[in-house]
Amino acid sequence: MKKRFIAGAVCPRCSEMDRIVMYSSEENTYQECVSCGYRDRQPTAEEMAQAAELETRVRHKPRAINTPAQPIKFFPQKPKETRH
Ligand SMILES: [Zn+2]
Repeated sequence: MKKRFIAGAVCPRCSEMDRIVMYSSEENTYQECVSCGYRDRQPTAEEMAQAAELETRVRHKPRAINTPAQPIKFFPQKPKETRH
């Protein structure tokens, strides 16, 4: 199994930087902290699609519009002065 360090990644558990390795099995991708042993499985493409589908279903409800109408101000342009 090939493990790769993720540059700049911070461990959510021990807050150490550059301790997170990423590796993937046949089906899943994992992130693991070599410092504290924290491990997290990355969602698969299928799970991402399912999550996105759920989100769109939730978002389907009409949202109440709370933004008040802003009065539009017009600044009439001054007529150009013609000087000779
Ligand atoms: Zn850690």
